[in-house]
Amino acid sequence: MYLTLKVKLNPDRKQSNKLLTTMEKFNEACNYASETAWHNKKFGKTGIQKLTYYDIRQKFALSAQLTVRAIGKVAESYSNDRKTMHKFNRRGAVVYDQRVLSFKGKDMVSILTLNGREKISISYGDYRPFDISKIRGQTDLIYEDNNFYLMLVMEVGENEVEYNDDVMGVDLGVVNIATTSNNEVYKGTKADEIRERYTSLKSRLQSAGTWSAKEHLKKLSKKERRFKRDLNHRVAKQLVKRAKDTSRAIALENLNGFRPEATVTKAQKDRLGKWAFSELTDFILYKSKLEGVPVIIINPMYTSQQCSECGHINKSNRQKQANFRCKTCGHRENADYNASKNIAHRGAVSLPDVLRLTSIS
Ligand SMILES: [Zn+2]
Repeated sequence: MYLTLKVKLNPDRKQSNKLLTTMEKFNEACNYASETAWHNKKFGKTGIQKLTYYDIRQKFALSAQLTVRAIGKVAESYSNDRKTMHKFNRRGAVVYDQRVLSFKGKDMVSILTLNGREKISISYGDYRPFDISKIRGQTDLIYEDNNFYLMLVMEVGENEVEYNDDVMGVDLGVVNIATTSNNEVYKGTKADEIRERYTSLKSRLQSAGTWSAKEHLKKLSKKERRFKRDLNHRVAKQLVKRAKDTSRAIALENLNGFRPEATVTKAQKDRLGKWAFSELTDFILYKSKLEGVPVIIINPMYTSQQCSECGHINKSNRQKQANFRCKTCGHRENADYNASKNIAHRGAVSLPDVLRLTSIS
């Protein structure tokens, strides 16, 4: 199974200019190769190479390797569609391979530009830990919002574990960030405190309205963002580790926003809006892939209204945010725990399919 990681390059200004020039020349070369291919109706890699290789090297001063990569990019693009002449973005991706891009330790790459090789530091952002030896094949260099990124393709899940039929259901919530079907609760208590502190500080700053208050506000938002991100990372990491250690797949709800039947108060809704659920889901998906843990996304309908003991569904089963009580069998328990067990049940039903999917993708 392969995973694409987006890591940021940190070039200085000179290096940044060199990369940009390389990128522009590379794409000019692609456009030249594309036009030539189009007019000669030769769309295969070898055909385009015969027609354009020496011209590209002369006209655009690209190295042999980057020339081959530019031609490869054009041929690949035409392999999908030969009905129109393809045009490439001036700052579209540059395709690198191991001969023109290599790692120097964990935090540095050596990358070929039109003016020779440059050593540039990289930052991983959300993608630690990260095993260089698992990087495979080609790497795209892309330019986005004035930053350069490498799209690294990594092989994951090599040491796949045997998974049993048991599934770990995870209920993502408001009061509790995550509750598992073993009743393990990941609380956001500290997050709540910090959020409240920020909220009151923010409202004071907003009403002040001065320039310095606005600046302060910007910094606070950034800090809050970082804190949430960090918390989501830690929760995701623990959940995935737990699943892996117990050889279980993870079942999650497909939560786009919040569940329609969830009983949330206005205050909770405000917090829900601010709390990045999808980010936590993303992190769980990413870390699971990395660890080879299967993830099952289930339909969230009624997971919080259904009784995990008798299966009865009733809107009034969930009396308050925290309490579940079944109208039919009288079963009582924490509402998040009850929901997480429903999620686990639904996940277990579809488990055989999911395991199959994971092993072939
Ligand atoms: Zn019941």
